[in-house]
Amino acid sequence: MNYVSTRDNQKNFTFKDVFLKGLANDGGLFVPKSIKQFKKDELNNLYNLSYNDLAAEIIYPFIGDFMSKDELIFLISKSYSNFRSNDVVQISDLGKLKVLELFHGPTLAFKDIAMQLIGNFYQYHLGRDQKRINIIVATSGDTGAAAIDALKGKSNLNIFVLHPNNKISPVQRKLMTIHDESNVFNIAVEGNFDDCQNLVKAMFNDEKFSKAINMSGVNSINWARIIAQSVYYFYAYFKVGNGKPLTFCVPTGNFGDIYAGYLAKKLGLPVDKLIVATNKNDILHRAISGGDYTQKKVEETNTPSMDIQIASNFERLLYDVKDCNSEITKDVMSKIKNNTYKIDKNDLDKIKKNFTSEMLDENETVEMIKTINNEHKIVVDPHTAVGIGAARKLGLEKNCVVLSTAHPCKFPQTIEDAISKTEELPDSLNYVYNRKEKFELLPNDIEKVKSYVMNSI
Ligand SMILES: *Cc1c(COP(=O)(O)O)cnc(C)c1O
Repeated sequence: MNYVSTRDNQKNFTFKDVFLKGLANDGGLFVPKSIKQFKKDELNNLYNLSYNDLAAEIIYPFIGDFMSKDELIFLISKSYSNFRSNDVVQISDLGKLKVLELFHGPTLAFKDIAMQLIGNFYQYHLGRDQKRINIIVATSGDTGAAAIDALKGKSNLNIFVLHPNNKISPVQRKLMTIHDESNVFNIAVEGNFDDCQNLVKAMFNDEKFSKAINMSGVNSINWARIIAQSVYYFYAYFKVGNGKPLTFCVPTGNFGDIYAGYLAKKLGLPVDKLIVATNKNDILHRAISGGDYTQKKVEETNTPSMDIQIASNFERLLYDVKDCNSEITKDVMSKIKNNTYKIDKNDLDKIKKNFTSEMLDENETVEMIKTINNEHKIVVDPHTAVGIGAARKLGLEKNCVVLSTAHPCKFPQTIEDAISKTEELPDSLNYVYNRKEKFELLPNDIEKVKSYVMNSI
């Protein structure tokens, strides 16, 4: 399959380029040049497959030039062998709604599903080409843990994770800092998540530095993550769709997870609406409901993994809406950068064919956790509560699957606020509490961070 950048679709790239680069040199995101839909009988053939076999069928067409199908099948089963659910994910009932539990991986959030596979893709590639790379990533909590778990101990690579000091939950921090593999480096930055992201961007953009250390990234714009996430939309449809189109409601930050649902729809999966559920950092809700895509300052909330100013993967949707015209997309992106972009009515109508949106503030989120606990005797994490609340507010609970993106024990304070109970880690993760933590505290200073990286490798 050939890929192009959303900002220049004249040049072709292979999956290997796309996977290793993450972002195109022109600042655009990689997308497939064209997508082949599954025909009806091809979809029917996927019906009874196990999660792993289904993953191979969905992912292989996107990466065929990178490895053989047998190699892919082997890496998929290796990636998911340590999940606490036999079939990787689970689906439960919540009244009229279905809940797709995506948090049964090693670090208790959906990001494990893509990241474990990416870790094995790296190992496969580096094992053959013998190039040592340094992966640097900023996290507001979940990405860093998932990346470290997927990459710790792998040969020929180091993983550096920048997190905002004292701004993530202790469980989130411990899941990153308790590892003693020599290729894992945690940096606690005296600043917020935006500062961490800006430091990583500055390192990427410093060509001399990023070339010198052979820098790579695993953030949510990486196309490999998107395709790995599309799989569970298919899986859910085959388990609970009963032949009818499903609506999916997705707690959304960077628009990666929900874009994977959009990709599933483009691949031919019967999907009705995709509901974008946000917290009060509601740029996407404002955009989809009324065309307003102006950035505001990020506010910290009790759903930290959705605290974003701008949703990077939205560029992929805009490229589609602009009929794959990369010149126009480039122009739109520069307007977005200057904070002067408004989605026009024609484009908004196109977006609304596939998407709708809703927002929950912090109080509503806590109330929703409480209500769900009262009604159904289960505890959901705050991000999942935003998803459930959004589907309820919109009255779209019929044939609707809400993605449950994290285990509630990762956000103990909010759970405590809601139901006055502490939520324990699953037994298999109890060891996390007693392990020694290791991280470097650094000021929000690009030179200090760069020299720490240089001196560590
Ligand atoms: C990352 C994350 C999200 C947001 O996913 P995007 O792909 O950035 O939209 C939602 N919930 C949890 C728990 C997360 O870790």
